[in-house]
Amino acid sequence: MSRRSRSDNHCEKTNNKSQRTLALAVLLLILIAFAYLKISDLTGGSDSGQTGNSQSITAGTEKNDGNIGDVASIDPDALPEYDGHNYVTINGSVPDFPDEVYSKAGLVKSGNSWKTEGTIKGVDSRKLTPYEFYGELDKSGRCTVAYGCLGLETMPPSGEERGDIGSVHPSGWAKAQNWERSHLIAWALSNENANERNLITGTHYLNYDGMRPLEEETEHYIWDTGNHVLYMSKPVYFGNEAVARGVNMMAWSVEDGGKGLSFNVYCFNVTPGASIDYNTGIVTTAEQAAQDARLYVINTRSGVFHYPSCEGAGQIAKKNRKEVTATRLELTSQGYTPCGYCEP
Ligand SMILES: [Zn+2]
Repeated sequence: MSRRSRSDNHCEKTNNKSQRTLALAVLLLILIAFAYLKISDLTGGSDSGQTGNSQSITAGTEKNDGNIGDVASIDPDALPEYDGHNYVTINGSVPDFPDEVYSKAGLVKSGNSWKTEGTIKGVDSRKLTPYEFYGELDKSGRCTVAYGCLGLETMPPSGEERGDIGSVHPSGWAKAQNWERSHLIAWALSNENANERNLITGTHYLNYDGMRPLEEETEHYIWDTGNHVLYMSKPVYFGNEAVARGVNMMAWSVEDGGKGLSFNVYCFNVTPGASIDYNTGIVTTAEQAAQDARLYVINTRSGVFHYPSCEGAGQIAKKNRKEVTATRLELTSQGYTPCGYCEP
């Protein structure tokens, strides 16, 4: 139900032949737009003061494709397929935190809601414990989970500059593949820099089209209200792959019981038009996949391939040097790695 898909439909309609149909379609369009505005008025539209359902998420607008699909839960054997939208909602976008996410913040269950310990009813901000938790890396060195009770206390003090994170090489990080280090909990929310438990190998699309609008919404909510947000960000891997297929993000505003902010989504770690080997981190763009076979120089010892003009290619010992005529995709799918210097 994104605005984008709405206008896509309009385009199809207005492509019709006769002018009469066109005029009719335009009229219809105006009516639909009018009706939509009316409905937005009633539901609060893109106000961040909405909760619970996927409609309340302001993320998927304008620049982003928005969400269309919804899945009941994340099944590691049947992960949602990327279909052009930057995320899908999970469970109708209703967060489903493990209990410890609440209890670490000093919340206890009271009927269908949560209250601060020692409070008769509702949440007393002063009794909340803001915190951040970063799960240990797994046996393969992969990030597992990050969650916390975020508030002004966990955010960087004003004037604070972001630190360098270049020292961290998250699992699946491959050189010269345009990867970005993606924070599970954004710096602006956590003031965490080079924390290896908080950085995964992510695409620009995951960072900017998937996660950032949700992070900004959370940040704005906290700035505007001074309230706290339970927040969880969990990379989702397929089997033993080194690079996550996506990130499950959840948020729930504490003091107002989720009225101000509430979501549960799965953001795709993809680059539209490119194919990604999630085991090796090697990305093949559509242009690269369409490239004709050409001459490459392979270092059979390191498994790295170069353009023949690369300095690195000239330095390969004779016994390890092999010249082949192949496409880039043929070489990467045989397990060879493109040189980080000549970037074939
Ligand atoms: Zn090279």
